[in-house]
Amino acid sequence: MTLQSKLPHIGTTIFTVMSRLATEENAINLSQGFPGFGADPLLLEMVAKYVRDGMNQYAPMVGIPALREVLAEKTRLTQGYFPDPETEVTIVSGATEAIFSAVSAVVRSGDEVIILEPAYDSYEPAVTLNGGIPVYVRLNSTDFSVNWEKVKASVSPKTRAILVNTPHNPSGFVWDKSDLDTLADLIRGREIYVISDEVYEHITFDGKPHFSLGGHPELRSKTFVCGSFGKTFHVTGWKIGYCIAPRTLTAEFRKIHQYVTFSTVTPIQFALAEYLEAPDRYLSIPGFYQKKRDLFAMGLAKTALKIIPSQGSFFQMASYGHLSSMADQKLAIEMTKKLKVACIPISVFYSDKQDDKIIRFCFAKENDQLEEALSRLKKLEDILN
Ligand code: PMP
Ligand code: GLN
Repeated sequence: MTLQSKLPHIGTTIFTVMSRLATEENAINLSQGFPGFGADPLLLEMVAKYVRDGMNQYAPMVGIPALREVLAEKTRLTQGYFPDPETEVTIVSGATEAIFSAVSAVVRSGDEVIILEPAYDSYEPAVTLNGGIPVYVRLNSTDFSVNWEKVKASVSPKTRAILVNTPHNPSGFVWDKSDLDTLADLIRGREIYVISDEVYEHITFDGKPHFSLGGHPELRSKTFVCGSFGKTFHVTGWKIGYCIAPRTLTAEFRKIHQYVTFSTVTPIQFALAEYLEAPDRYLSIPGFYQKKRDLFAMGLAKTALKIIPSQGSFFQMASYGHLSSMADQKLAIEMTKKLKVACIPISVFYSDKQDDKIIRFCFAKENDQLEEALSRLKKLEDILN
């Protein structure tokens, strides 16, 4: 018997490939996006306490009430609306699950789903597995803002959903309020849902606010907001996130969630509920990351690479087309092997693997690691030929 693959075009994700190579090569790993530093010891202690206290059985399918309530309160504080914790907030096992379950809730066979690219790699398989047809729209090549004319041109009677991501991985572009208004205009009067990946909601720079699509009264009625506590509190391995969506959408979302994972790790839910009670714990994050972004971007500007400004997320892109025509995937491998610094080639974020000679670095690392990586990158020209 030969199993006919449902995803014949999919291999192992670039994040796994590059992290593995970084380990093999003993390189500084600025490829896969995860913090190189620990979480607040207080949060760790809270988890330990709830484990010891016996909070170790299944949590309620939709998440513990205390966490849903404090998350609704955070949403009121940061985005100016209060989702109903009972019917509009669901705790899930990471944003990846939120995105998958939201796509599964709305996409039927033959439906078209607009994906803005470069795009995070989990979107397309979620669409394809549900029988949907991905329709790709390129972001503007200079700053990775949305080309709304192109989005408009790609809408058809079959369009069922659009997947959006702000702050954006890999570019760091952050949407303005006008982007939300334009999207609302574009889908008004049509049955098009929005799946909004906002995992970097608390990482924006230079005072730029993050506008959640849930904060837009018109978009809110059609949007699944997908978030990740792993990103916000430097604990990506905990795989815990959430989905906020209106009551009717949440009802369908939960039907899927209850059979994908059923519920999410209990003691961590209790710990996060307690930890989130002090807003400063998430409001202080932009300042923390901005120092790292500045350190890394300033250092990178002293290498031969050209930096592409990052407004949010913990990623910094840089281009090298003025130095070499080497394929970006090859460069990422050479850089890891010879300079001992790992990065992500951006071509993997495009459906047709378009290679604009751009690479992505994750700067969520200890400063000494960033400084060492920057010093190694000064020798970049030696490996480009
Ligand atoms: N979306 C984007 C844009 C991401 O970078 C990531 C990476 N973590 C995710 C979703 C997945 O988040 P989680 O780890 O909470 O599943
Ligand atoms: N979101 C992370 C990144 O973009 C990777 C997460 C993963 O490895 N799936 O690097």
